[in-house]
Amino acid sequence: MALVNDHFLKINDTYLFVDIAKKVNAFCVSHPKTRVISLGIGDVTQPLCPAVIEAMHKAVDEMGTKESFRGYGPEHGYDFLREAILRNDYLARGIRLDISEIFINDGAKSDTGNFQELLRWDNSVGVTDPIYPVYIDSNAMIGRAGICEKGRWSNVTYFPCTAENGFVPQIPDRRVDMIYLCYPNNPTGTVLPKEELRQWVNYALRNDTLILYDAAYEAYIQDVTIPHSIYEIKGARRCAVEFRSFSKTAGFTGVRCGYTVVPKELTASTIDGSRHISLHQLWGRRQATKFNGTAYVAQRAAEAIYTPEGKKQVRQTIDYYMGNAAFMREALGQLGFAVYGGRNAPYLWVKTPKGIPSWKFFEEMLYGAAVVCTPGVGFGPSGEGYFRITAFSERDDCREAMQRIASWMKGG
Ligand SMILES: *Cc1c(COP(=O)(O)O)cnc(C)c1O
Repeated sequence: MALVNDHFLKINDTYLFVDIAKKVNAFCVSHPKTRVISLGIGDVTQPLCPAVIEAMHKAVDEMGTKESFRGYGPEHGYDFLREAILRNDYLARGIRLDISEIFINDGAKSDTGNFQELLRWDNSVGVTDPIYPVYIDSNAMIGRAGICEKGRWSNVTYFPCTAENGFVPQIPDRRVDMIYLCYPNNPTGTVLPKEELRQWVNYALRNDTLILYDAAYEAYIQDVTIPHSIYEIKGARRCAVEFRSFSKTAGFTGVRCGYTVVPKELTASTIDGSRHISLHQLWGRRQATKFNGTAYVAQRAAEAIYTPEGKKQVRQTIDYYMGNAAFMREALGQLGFAVYGGRNAPYLWVKTPKGIPSWKFFEEMLYGAAVVCTPGVGFGPSGEGYFRITAFSERDDCREAMQRIASWMKGG
């Protein structure tokens, strides 16, 4: 008899966005004439830019002739893309990496979820709270997170990020083996100033902690003082992995391409502490066994983002989304909401009025204004009393959503 991995039974069998979709469907059934505006799900809406489309067409044509057809590629990615990443995302910011430290992936979700596999099941885990659910769930699946009671996992250390601490997590006063940081942050849309990030790196170096740094929203940073990469901090090469994705940068959510940086100095210890094992080597080995590379067409598409036209076009789309964010920040602020984030990230994190619980507010706004948000508590206990609004929508929808919320709040 095949026995199930019972750690899977401890995690929610539905995903936050499935719960939301169910509630929205119920509303649509009872209000068939109402058009619901969704500011909820974190998917992009604008099409791929022309430079990317052109590169993809060309790559598809290459696949159609014997001479230029490509089969299995190198499992860690093609050098044309790794070189473009190295030059544009790192050397241009004064960060030196070796090309072999860049592992092309099929999106950051896979790698942020998979990387923990290199670490023993009994390492302790720390996360900022609220958080992208993948980090905890992937640890829970192998039993590292303990058991979940009232939305809290017994073996996870939570670093609350709330309006009270300005969304800056407090450095723990004891050792944690693995820590997930995501900046710019999903869901709060807030960023970590360089000085704060430096403190996390120093903490990690002192405690032999591994930082798993998710920089999926790096392209949305507007403030020049905010770090784009954790490797802008001295010593980070010895304590951090960095995950990047073209999903939000260039609308690749349906194309699937990103990358993970694993520096060669990065190690984890054997249980008796006698040896330090290279995580670069282990990750390479893991990928060689379980991953066979990202599609050639997707990698050519990603390469095109780094051309002069590609850069300009990608920037235009990001500016469009950030225009939405600025517009909604202003509108919600005028309605008296306490609004956070949205300056260096495509997310607004908003306090519910009068401390209404997240799900209750979600339903009230759905039924009162036919606007969908994401309940903050879905991202962790510290998200209770907040909701998330995304800037990934059409400007006209943002306008109409804000008008509807305004007239609903005024009781009209
Ligand atoms: C969207 C997102 C990603 C990227 O996921 P992909 O698999 O690359 O599409 C990674 N991390 C966070 C926090 C995200 O919100």
